Amino acid sequence: MGSIKGDLLIYNSLRGEKLVFEPLKEGFVGLYVCGPTVYSNVHLGNCRTFISFDLVYRYLIHLGYKVRYVRNITDVGHLTDDADEGEDKIAKKARLEQLEPMEIVHQYTMDFHKVMEQFNAISPNIEPTATGHIIEQIEMIQAILDNGFAYESNGSIYFDVEKYNETHPYGELSGRKIEDLIANTRDLDGQDEKRAPLDFALWKNAQPEHIMKWPSPWGIGFPGWHLECSAMSTKYLGEQFDIHGGGMDLKFPHHECEIAQGTASNGKSPVRYWMHGNMLTLNGKKMSKSTGNSLLPEELFSGENDLLDKSYDPMVVRFFMMQAHYRSTLDFTSEALGAAEKGYNKLMEAMKSLDEIVGGKEADSGQVKPIVDSFYSAMNDDFNAPVLLANLFEAVKLINSVKDGKASVSTEDLALLRKEMQAFVYDVLGLKAPGSEGDNRINPVMDLVLELRQQARTKKDWDTSDKIRDGLAAAGITVKDSKDGTSWN
Ligand code: AMP
Ligand code: ZN
Repeated sequence: MGSIKGDLLIYNSLRGEKLVFEPLKEGFVGLYVCGPTVYSNVHLGNCRTFISFDLVYRYLIHLGYKVRYVRNITDVGHLTDDADEGEDKIAKKARLEQLEPMEIVHQYTMDFHKVMEQFNAISPNIEPTATGHIIEQIEMIQAILDNGFAYESNGSIYFDVEKYNETHPYGELSGRKIEDLIANTRDLDGQDEKRAPLDFALWKNAQPEHIMKWPSPWGIGFPGWHLECSAMSTKYLGEQFDIHGGGMDLKFPHHECEIAQGTASNGKSPVRYWMHGNMLTLNGKKMSKSTGNSLLPEELFSGENDLLDKSYDPMVVRFFMMQAHYRSTLDFTSEALGAAEKGYNKLMEAMKSLDEIVGGKEADSGQVKPIVDSFYSAMNDDFNAPVLLANLFEAVKLINSVKDGKASVSTEDLALLRKEMQAFVYDVLGLKAPGSEGDNRINPVMDLVLELRQQARTKKDWDTSDKIRDGLAAAGITVKDSKDGTSWN
């Protein structure tokens, strides 16, 4: 793969270096990304991680791979302390709102899908839910138990970290040493079901008041958050698959535990390339729902937040995210977003010009090919979108020079530039031209409706004219009459 386009290098967090990507099966890629825990609206930080992996997915497709992209929905088992203590995040929200947990799950899954669509993120091929895979999770726990890496305690099952560490290094992904981890964990208080503090729950026995629970060979309970991802990735991608992604904050313990669970159940380290996206920060601190240091995408699209002086198109926000490499932190400021808007507009203007310019007979040859090659070399270098953008702006310079008559390119080169720029801007970066998705049939329809309203007014048929105005208002359209005529928005 990629002899013309070059080798794809991926930074593998497990190895701490960039490595040439070699899929397990030529031409195919299995990609798993940890999805959201659907107990609240996704904030812009969550979106950054999902958009980063949308870029990865898009580029793999562009390179010609057949990708199976699995991104789960965590709808049970993620506890408030992100480990084994506290309440289930979804059950807690359901209790507070006096709703069924599945109402919470549905509401925030819908919100997540809407936001991803606004950002033009391609839907994964499979979006499994944890509650839909309880049987697979029980089977995996049984395999870990059978292999001697877990134990039962009071109807709960815990992974025996120290036992595992005798044969496999626990902490290899996050670079932690088991001795340090042990030294840093608090002592068990005697009430604890665990044998050792580092052990983590695969299955938890449910108290009678617990709402989300299922029967298992060990009694009524619910699965551990780490186990869900192991069971779902194994089911759809196999015991070993190519790429696993998620935010940096999931490296430990979530992904470390996934490695341990996969290895303990079938003897294979589950993932070949671990990829971790860095955090979106606000005021220099991780954007996070629990600390209140977060922004919702909708606030950006409507401009309704004190940090902003105007609204921003989702594509501007996406462009803003593409200006940073996925492994670098990105700080959100309204100035940076304003600058991204200028950059996005400039790129889109050039895309329009690219459609309009024509190839010349007396063309300078040899300018286009190196620019196009630079698109590939940027993305082949661990999906380096900011370098790709810089290289696309080299092409923008050339397009503008041709437009101004200061340079010319051959018809053949122009065709190549068009094809590759469209591919990289629209297909790989996932940007859309402003208004490209808008339904432009609304304008003639509104002209017709307003004409009918005007006719009714002329005939003093106030019932009809009010009905039209109220009907439009209900659809979120405001009609304004002034001495210059009628307008709507
Ligand atoms: P959660 O719903 O908490 O399980 O998180 C969903 C995804 O969002 C995970 O991959 C997290 O790593 C990621 N995430 C959470 N906060 C941020 C942030 N501030 N910047 C980037 N990614 C984040
Ligand atoms: Zn996960």
